[in-house]
Amino acid sequence: SDTKMQTAAAILEKTQKHPCYSFDAHQKFARMHLPVAPYCNISCNYCNRKFDCVNESRPGVTSEILTPQAAKKKFDRVSEKVGELSVVGIAGPGDALADWENTRQTIGLIRKENPQIVFCLSTNGLLLPEYAQEIVELGVSHVTVTVNCLDPVIGAKIYKHINYKGRHYEGEAGVAILIENQLAGISKLTSQGIIVKINIVMLKGINDHHIPEVVKKMKELGVYITNIMPLIPAPGSVFENFPQTTMKDVNEMRNSCELDVMQMRHCKQCRADAIGLLGEDRSQEFRDHDESLTV
Ligand code: SF4
Ligand code: SF4
Repeated sequence: SDTKMQTAAAILEKTQKHPCYSFDAHQKFARMHLPVAPYCNISCNYCNRKFDCVNESRPGVTSEILTPQAAKKKFDRVSEKVGELSVVGIAGPGDALADWENTRQTIGLIRKENPQIVFCLSTNGLLLPEYAQEIVELGVSHVTVTVNCLDPVIGAKIYKHINYKGRHYEGEAGVAILIENQLAGISKLTSQGIIVKINIVMLKGINDHHIPEVVKKMKELGVYITNIMPLIPAPGSVFENFPQTTMKDVNEMRNSCELDVMQMRHCKQCRADAIGLLGEDRSQEFRDHDESLTV
C-alpha cells in the first residue's frame, strides 16, 4: 500500500512544512483543524467538557462538529482559498482516537485526493496501542500526545476517571492504565518513524517538579519535541480556581528541559477548528456560511 512508502526520510521532510513541529515553518505554512471528534474517554480536571480539548486547544470556545463528509467539503473550500495550507489536523474537540471512526474516515477522504497534505492528530493516548498501526497505515505522520506525569499518585490529582474497554476506572487505577498505554503507544509510533510531539500541561504544585523526569522518559522513547504549556483554568472545570501557570515558570522549565528534548515555544493553544497560519485564526471566515454542514 502507499502507506508502506511512508519512509522515515519522507516523514522528516514533511516536518519542514508543519508549522507546529518546525519553528521555521510557522510563518510560512498554514494548518487547519477539523472538529470531527466530539467524545472523550477520560476526564481531565482542567477540562470542562464543553469546550475544545485542552490537549491541543485553548478553553473558552466551542467548535461546531462536522461529519467526515462535511469535513472533506470544508477542506476543499479552505484549500482553495488558503494557498499555504500544508497540514490537516484532528484535535478534538474531544479525543481523536475516542472517535476513531470519524477521524479515520475524515483523513481517508482527504488523503485520497491530496497525497501532499501532512496529516496530524492529537490524543490523550489511552487508545494509542490499539490504533498506532492504523494511524501509520492511514498516512498520519505527526501525532501529539498529552503526557502530564509518569506516576499514578500524581496523575490521580490531574485525572478524575478513565473509560477503557467498557469499564470505568477512578483515581490511580485509571491513571495507571492511561500512563501504561501512553508509553506503549508512543514507542509504537516512534519505532515506525512517526514524529511525536508531547504536550505537558504544567500545574503548579502538582506536576511541575516532575516534568523534567517526564521529558527524560520522552527522550528515551524517541519523541521529537515537547510542548510544555501553561494551565489556563477553564470555567466549570475542577481546576477553575487553580492559578494560571505563569509564562516565566513555563519558560524556565522549557530552558532546563531543552538539554534533553527540543522545546516548542511557539504553540498558540489553538481551537479545534483553527484555520490559517499559527497566531492567525480564520475559522470564523469559513464557519458562517457553513451552518448547513454543522451536525
Ligand atoms: Fe477534556 Fe481533552 Fe482531557 Fe478529554 S483529553 S477530558 S477532551 S482535556
Ligand atoms: Fe500547533 Fe499548538 Fe496550535 Fe496545535 S495548538 S496547532 S501545536 S500551535
